Amino acid sequence: MRLLVIGSGGREHALCRKLAASPLADAVFCAPGNGGIAEVATCVPLDPLAFPEMIAFCRRERIDLVVVGPEGPLVAGIVDALEAAGIAAFGPKAAAAALEGSKGFTKDICAKYGIPTGAYKRCTSAVEAKAFIAENSAPIVVKADGLAAGKGVVVALTIEEANAAVDMIMGGAFGTAGAELVVEELLDGEEISYFALCDGSHAIPLGSAQDHKRAYDGDRGPNTGGMGAYAPAPVLTPELDAEIMARIIHPTVAAMAKEGRPFTGVLFAGLMMTKSGPMLIEYNTRFGDPECQVLMARLQSDLLPALLAARDGALDRFDLRWKAEAALCVVMAAKGYPGDYAKGDVIGGLERAAALPNVAVLHAGTKQATDGRIIANGGRVLGIVGTGPDVAAARTAAYAGVDALDWPGGFCRRDIGWRALPQGR
Ligand code: AMP
Repeated sequence: MRLLVIGSGGREHALCRKLAASPLADAVFCAPGNGGIAEVATCVPLDPLAFPEMIAFCRRERIDLVVVGPEGPLVAGIVDALEAAGIAAFGPKAAAAALEGSKGFTKDICAKYGIPTGAYKRCTSAVEAKAFIAENSAPIVVKADGLAAGKGVVVALTIEEANAAVDMIMGGAFGTAGAELVVEELLDGEEISYFALCDGSHAIPLGSAQDHKRAYDGDRGPNTGGMGAYAPAPVLTPELDAEIMARIIHPTVAAMAKEGRPFTGVLFAGLMMTKSGPMLIEYNTRFGDPECQVLMARLQSDLLPALLAARDGALDRFDLRWKAEAALCVVMAAKGYPGDYAKGDVIGGLERAAALPNVAVLHAGTKQATDGRIIANGGRVLGIVGTGPDVAAARTAAYAGVDALDWPGGFCRRDIGWRALPQGR
């Protein structure tokens, strides 16, 4: 089969590696890809939002399946456009990607179908939002309704902070994504990321992970796209796993089918393990980054038949095998990220790191210079994945990989996985 992966991050590098390893794959392309993806796929300089060019490329290259990594193209309808042109694509259509594209839509689905989540109100004016905040008091959570690259959420500890968040979001900080707000109850507990593969009417578990959103050690500093992750989440017992599938994932898939928006693709649930059981914080409609990197490191089965079964509505007869080991990913970012940072540093030691046992080096913001050397070309630049019998061993492997690199312009957190270690818990 001839495959095209859309995206350019560590997530897409993990997907490309896994797909390229499939005996069913004859060719893998990635648009636009990055310096590391180029080792396993042919990178093509296509804009993920330029659908006509994408369709022309797929026809020219006789692409059998397009796998979409990021949310932007999904919410904008890339799967609708490709399928309408007769090109098979893995991922939700725009109507189903609304689970990520509109937080208010998701909350309404939860309310209508009894899916456990916090109390909330959708607001289209600042006056309405502030009245709800005054009624419910702080702490409280204020969110832009639409896509805001993970930055549209404020967990406000005081009423003043909550009101300021309303003004910031409605003042246009996130453009049209902030034209509507969701104000919601703060959920208390341990947070996990839970993934399910869905085919429109069935869902199977894809594993769990926990990530680290803050830039610096001790979960301090500004929010980022994610500085590291590990899988599986130790809090997730088999009983909790079954409860999440029964009370959250299956009801959502059934609800979306009933609404005439069947969900096909990866359903990524941000969950809070509260005293009264798992509750939904939010949905994403694709793999997480860096969660995908650790999920793929644990997946024993061939990924491609699973994606095809999801696209073809055949997951009821499908089963995935997982390695018993744990995986942990440390993200290396350019100094200054998530603020301003420099591009163009040469990164040394990549082969040395990748040659270490149980270490994989995944690229995100990198590019290959004309002399073949790899240079930093983004905020989050590399993901070093370690595997081992438990999270502690996976972490040791990942940091051995980090220490083999030669990149003075980069930094990483030194405490990824702390919550999963005996002393952390
Ligand atoms: P979201 O983009 O909705 O996942 O929000 C980003 C982060 O804010 C989440 O990963 C949580 O850590 C936190 N958060 C969002 N909503 C809530 C909530 N209702 N209660 C507690 N924490 C929340």
